Amino acid sequence: MKILIARLNHETNTFSPVPTPLSSFAPRYGEDAYRASKGTRTAIGAFIDLAEAAGAELVVPVAAGANPSGRVAADAYTALCDAIVSAAPGCDAVMLDLHGAMVAENSDDGEGELLARLRKVLPDAPIAIALDLHGNVTKAMMAHADIAVSFKTYPHVDMYETGEHAGRLLMRMLQQQMRPALAWRRLPMVTHTLRSNTGEGAMQRAVAAARQAEAGGMLAVSVLAGFGLADIAAPCISVLVVADGDAAAAQAVADKLAAQIWNERAGFVYESEPLADSIACAAQLAAADGKGPVLLLDHGDNCMSGGTCDDMAVLREALRQGLSGIAVGPVCDPQAVAALIEAGVGASVTLPVGNKVPLSQLGVYPAPLTLSGRVAAISDGEYVISGPTYPGLRIRMGRTALLDTGAAQVVVTETPQEHWDLGIFTHIGVDPLTQRFLLLKSRMYCRPVFVPIAKAVVECDGGGVTSSRYAQFPFQRLARPVYPLDADVAWRA
Ligand SMILES: [Zn+2]
Repeated sequence: MKILIARLNHETNTFSPVPTPLSSFAPRYGEDAYRASKGTRTAIGAFIDLAEAAGAELVVPVAAGANPSGRVAADAYTALCDAIVSAAPGCDAVMLDLHGAMVAENSDDGEGELLARLRKVLPDAPIAIALDLHGNVTKAMMAHADIAVSFKTYPHVDMYETGEHAGRLLMRMLQQQMRPALAWRRLPMVTHTLRSNTGEGAMQRAVAAARQAEAGGMLAVSVLAGFGLADIAAPCISVLVVADGDAAAAQAVADKLAAQIWNERAGFVYESEPLADSIACAAQLAAADGKGPVLLLDHGDNCMSGGTCDDMAVLREALRQGLSGIAVGPVCDPQAVAALIEAGVGASVTLPVGNKVPLSQLGVYPAPLTLSGRVAAISDGEYVISGPTYPGLRIRMGRTALLDTGAAQVVVTETPQEHWDLGIFTHIGVDPLTQRFLLLKSRMYCRPVFVPIAKAVVECDGGGVTSSRYAQFPFQRLARPVYPLDADVAWRA
């Protein structure tokens, strides 16, 4: 028994100006891919464990994943797919760790076209795929996969469990213990990432219904919120069901769950309030009783959705309204880092910070924010995550500097960063607990660590390329009508 196992992960924000060359994927090949993946709490880590436990021969041609950014460069997409497809001949089964929302310069359906190529080489081999909850499912993906399962959590913490689920079903299929029937239903509906938190609201109820259907006998039921910041035909929410043999039963479950989601569609829409209102609200919250900082979540500029991490709208407004005691960070601005390091610790400086990457697809060319202050510290930008997401992982942010303007302590880095841990501040001498405000360019991943120490959370729409104001994005390929961009969208399962 020879099993092809690979990982190719990218969530593409086609509006993002952040490029996605091959190097962004830090691809590992062959033996190196196997070593880098084995033992990790990812879907591919689970695939490897299952295949080894079954005594199978493993073929691991590539393990590659990049942070969300713009369309994948054509040569990168082709090279990574070639690596997987060329390893396929002679394999008896395939397990793929995919995201589901990959768009390349030369493909609007990154995963679908990869699966179609694999199917051509292996017409009869079972193919199982593990997907992110934000995958945009397509007809081609469903046509060429036998088994598909997505995460059930956001913030995502069940990558391994999802891989194990999909892989286990594939093993049962190989042992002829079951014959999967895969059904799906996609809705004409673009959701907001801030409404795909599986801990609350309509998304929580949808995932609960999926679990209930699994408890009732379905082999796997997945709700994929989709990723709306992609200008493709259908960056939409969908439901996937795997049943044992009974295609009609699978379709009935998919339709019923899709109908529930449609009836609750307003619960998947996030309405941004004006930034000035959010900042004024934060100021009131900071003045109220209670301990800890108020979090200002700059969710329109989140690097884990394709943000540049250099939009300065939220800090600009906070300073305009006279807020102080703000720790900001990080802002990605390698030029500013170089200038601050050259000036040296203790130096007084005035320099432009952030707003340097034009958001050309949105027609936004913001002016840098000029800040004056003292270079308070310089660091190598490294810290180790103490948990709970990716505990033990060493984060390398590049050279980092701390600019103290009096009202704000601004952490400036050479690379975009998500807020995995307090170390993002503490490593350079800023104590987040003693601040009045923490301005974080995060929408969800900061929450497990930062919400417990905070007095309150205020979501601020600064208007970057991960904003929830879909009306400002120039969609051209998106099939219309689609909810909630268009009024009167008629749909029934
Ligand atoms: Zn996701």
